[in-house]
Amino acid sequence: MSRIVGIDLGTTNSLIAYVDEKSGLPRVIPDRDGNVLLPSVVSFSGDGVLVGAAARRQLVRRPAATVYSVKRLMGRGYDDVKEELRYLPFKVLPGEGIVKIAIGSREITPPEVSAIVLRSLKERAEAHFGEPIAKAVVTVPAYFNDGQRQATKDAGRIAGLDVVRILNEPTAASLAYGLQRIHEGVVAVYDLGGGTFDISILRVKEGVFEVLATNGNTHLGGDDFDRAIVLWLLDDIRTRHGADLGSDPEALQELRLAAEAAKIRLSADDRTTLTIPFDAFTYHREITRAELDGLIEQLVDSTLLPCRMALADAGLAPADIDEVVLVGGSTRVPLVRRRVHELFGKAPHSQLNPDEVVALGAAVQARILAGGITNMLLLDVTPLSLGIETLGGIVSVLIPRNTTIPTHAREMFTTSVDGQRVVDMHVVQGERELAKDCRSLARFELSGVDPMPAGMPKIEVVFLIDANGILQVTATELRTGKAAAIEVRPAYGLSEADVERMVEESFTYAEADVEARLLIEARNEADIVITHVERALRQGEALVGDDERQTIGAALEALRRARATEDRELIREATTAMNRATEHLAEVMMDAALKAALASRRADRVLEK
Ligand code: AMP
Repeated sequence: MSRIVGIDLGTTNSLIAYVDEKSGLPRVIPDRDGNVLLPSVVSFSGDGVLVGAAARRQLVRRPAATVYSVKRLMGRGYDDVKEELRYLPFKVLPGEGIVKIAIGSREITPPEVSAIVLRSLKERAEAHFGEPIAKAVVTVPAYFNDGQRQATKDAGRIAGLDVVRILNEPTAASLAYGLQRIHEGVVAVYDLGGGTFDISILRVKEGVFEVLATNGNTHLGGDDFDRAIVLWLLDDIRTRHGADLGSDPEALQELRLAAEAAKIRLSADDRTTLTIPFDAFTYHREITRAELDGLIEQLVDSTLLPCRMALADAGLAPADIDEVVLVGGSTRVPLVRRRVHELFGKAPHSQLNPDEVVALGAAVQARILAGGITNMLLLDVTPLSLGIETLGGIVSVLIPRNTTIPTHAREMFTTSVDGQRVVDMHVVQGERELAKDCRSLARFELSGVDPMPAGMPKIEVVFLIDANGILQVTATELRTGKAAAIEVRPAYGLSEADVERMVEESFTYAEADVEARLLIEARNEADIVITHVERALRQGEALVGDDERQTIGAALEALRRARATEDRELIREATTAMNRATEHLAEVMMDAALKAALASRRADRVLEK
């Protein structure tokens, strides 16, 4: 039995999980440093590639070469993503077919970027198990269309992973909570992450999940909470220190990180303090949970309308919901939990880590597919209807929405013009009557039809949806016995040849990568240390003696020289030496900051009285 892993390929973070043989429980796999979340960020430089936290650190420094949120572009055409582009600092090229991202002179597709994230997770699992991993279940949002699902599968292939099942994220979250075991009921999955909000209403009946409705906001999440806190801090800094940091990117980044950390602490504590050293002053401030709630209340409340709309689409009232599941890091915010509880009138499931729950569910599905769990039947359904455009632009539906997959359907068509040799086939997805209002999935021609009067040819169209929700369409002219069949790929998919090429390229480039990546990482770390030491020397000037300043100066010079070489060992050694040389300085600065903080608190108290 080969091992199958479960992967949550997220907009902000991705993670990988498996079901532990002994306990039968799903578990996430951390990296060597114990981190479970892999930021879905990829940064390119020369021939090298960084992924995860190392890539995320490049966001400020190298925005044009650092790709994030690529999930928003997966399997889509330029017209689909035009709206997204103002949020993304990297360059997306206009053109026909699948979108391409320009990194310098190089063009790269979203599945290739996702493949880099997937490969990193695959390597993590391989290191964990000490054996190659070749198969995975990968999750996607319930509203992903065929093209987006296919793109996700392509990303897997490029990464050397056979994606044995594409699973809806809300279904995965429900599986993690074992909700497939309830005989019959309705589940609401509330998913608030870093940058996206999704609500899905699912019906579960004897192990089969059916998506009744989805809604959400593709630009709402924890990042907006952070932004609200930063605006408030900027105001406070202006009042108390007379400094306007709003146009200083480095200061903004520091504030953003501090705001997020404070927000996270306030999920557990009633109050917390922020201390941020700037060049001219150290900012110090207490923030309470009530203050945070005030800042984010409107944002949280704005998730409730999509919930109500999804309920209305499903023809249900809040009281019809039997189970509520929380997904996404931002559902740890107590105010979010409270609002969800109030809306549905019942306590949501929150025992599992909301960042991990989708990956854990993917692992459960993987285990089922691998044959480890046999007493469970698990099926999914098609989210949208699939059909063919016929005369007058009307859609003829072959597979209605909410059909349990895998499935197939067959229908006969004919021609409308005498002597027609070529028949245009247009495959569409959606719930509208007219093809122009539905999403165009693919077009193809059935050629070589013998000329006959209109209405005579018998064209059999077969739709086949496999267990991943991916569609294949074939058309055959039956009357002449001469058959032509065509397999359809989504309009924004990659061709087989594209995928093959990308698989090959990714391998050659992976080997050249390792050295380049290690060098980039060493240089990045050196850059960070240099910036910090320079700042510390400016701020802590009065705290160190001449000798110490000279030692630090010499170490700094040595590190700058090493940084300019290609020798990563030398850079690492110089970085370590630099850290050692500044140990004492760091200590005395920390002391001074603490004293200042205490003093300012005392001053606050005096003022309060
Ligand atoms: P996700 O996209 O699901 O990984 O969620 C990431 C978002 O969750 C980010 O905005 C984080 O700041 C936020 N987050 C993570 N942990 C917490 C926490 N304990 N309290 C509040 N927000 C959190």
